[in-house]
Amino acid sequence: MNDCIFCKIIAGTIPSISVYEDDDIKVFLDISQTTPGHTLLIPKKHITNIFEYDESLAQKVLTKIPMIARAIKKSNPKISGLNIVNNNGAIAYQSVFHSHFHFIPRFAATDSFAMTFKDNSGEYSSAKLQEIANLIHKNMED
Ligand code: AMP
Ligand code: ZN
Repeated sequence: MNDCIFCKIIAGTIPSISVYEDDDIKVFLDISQTTPGHTLLIPKKHITNIFEYDESLAQKVLTKIPMIARAIKKSNPKISGLNIVNNNGAIAYQSVFHSHFHFIPRFAATDSFAMTFKDNSGEYSSAKLQEIANLIHKNMED
């Protein structure tokens, strides 16, 4: 895609610090380095977000996540955890609209990355939870 910054990184027309690439994916350092070693995995095929993966592309791209995660962890003994983050849609903090997965090494509770899950469980009956689960299940593809 012409005006996509990640397609330009794949094409080599803008620079990146490459970690790994093969026929299907590119892995490179995120310019922000939210924590040291912050890395991005992208498919070479331009797709906007998770909703556009078919099974074949998912197999080629997503199955490499554990290999990348292990390599990052082994690269620095100070890494004690890893957040894998995938933002889909502007409301979900996506700012580059070429699908990507963040690997954010974690060093301490006070490092530069934070994520909050608000506990709203008190607002949900088990009937309401079951209704939500049924709706999701009903929409699964074969
Ligand atoms: P998101 O907000 O989930 O769409 O993440 C986009 C990420 O792309 C951000 O963490 C940016 O720091 C990163 N990014 C943007 N431009 C570049 C670039 N030229 N090289 C490396 N990372 C980039
Ligand atoms: Zn692209």
